[in-house]
Amino acid sequence: RMQRLRARLARSGTVGQTLLSILSRGDLTESDWEEIEETLLLADVGIGPTTELMDTLRTRSKVLGTTDPEVVRGVLREELLALVGESDRSIATEPVVGDDGRPHPATVLVVGVNGTGKTTTVAKLARVLVAEDKSVVLGAADTFRAAAADQLSTWGARVGVEVVRSDREGADPAAVAFDTVRRGREESADVVLVDTAGRLQNKQGLMDELGKIKRVMSREAPVSEVLLVLDATTGQNGMRQAQVFADVVDITGIVLTKLDGTAKGGIVVAVQRELGVPVKFVGLGEGPDDLAPFVPEEFVDALLS
Ligand code: GDP
Repeated sequence: RMQRLRARLARSGTVGQTLLSILSRGDLTESDWEEIEETLLLADVGIGPTTELMDTLRTRSKVLGTTDPEVVRGVLREELLALVGESDRSIATEPVVGDDGRPHPATVLVVGVNGTGKTTTVAKLARVLVAEDKSVVLGAADTFRAAAADQLSTWGARVGVEVVRSDREGADPAAVAFDTVRRGREESADVVLVDTAGRLQNKQGLMDELGKIKRVMSREAPVSEVLLVLDATTGQNGMRQAQVFADVVDITGIVLTKLDGTAKGGIVVAVQRELGVPVKFVGLGEGPDDLAPFVPEEFVDALLS
């Protein structure tokens, strides 16, 4: 049955259409309810949230005494919204006054596995901030791949912001992060964004590395945000990686990338639930303008249309 559903999901393209086709059969039978549940699972909503949703959906449908597809769909929309929940989804973009009485830029550390879209996200975020008249400095603290700093420099030139980097491959990422924050202070920048390496070596290694970057940056300015970048197309595997990062550093927000490349947006629900941290932005393409603030209503409507 999962195979049949998978095929149908691939054919119809959206979770909403699949659900609607199940719901339009009229009175829902036990096997229809199961298909709804499987569709949510296939959409990466995750086992916990899906079970919760199905319980509520069945109960409310019973209470309402109807299995009218439009009604059930409306209930599902409400319950998905409730699951996504209210959160502060803004990021720190204002300088903060430090213990020494001097203003520091808001500092944002961007972490995640390589290939998830970290560097691109840093550039896109810079673009959003520049459009809001913020002054921004970027730091290329992914010093393990020479190409990473080049990539960020290219983006910096494109977006029109300064990039702090080291020309030495294998330089200490914490030193680059420190220099970036210092540069931000010198420039009286509003925001400093630091790109990091996403090597998932062992957990201890990652913890040491990110811990050191945070500690060293904090000597110049407290770290305001740690954004975790997660590739929406990687499903449960991505979730496991996200959990490793969440275990080693205090994440304050999630950026879910490549949402344009999947019909399985349910991962938004799963990742928030799993990590207890709000999705703040979504990546919707490879271009500099393809980053949007996460809006629960828009997301749920897209999932169900
Ligand atoms: P990093 O290794 O985590 O820094 O990842 P990159 O920023 O280099 O991105 C890896 C690839 O994913 C690149 O080809 C990006 O263009 C692509 N990418 C990043 N964000 C998105 C997105 O939101 N949608 C799509 N379709 N591609 C993206």
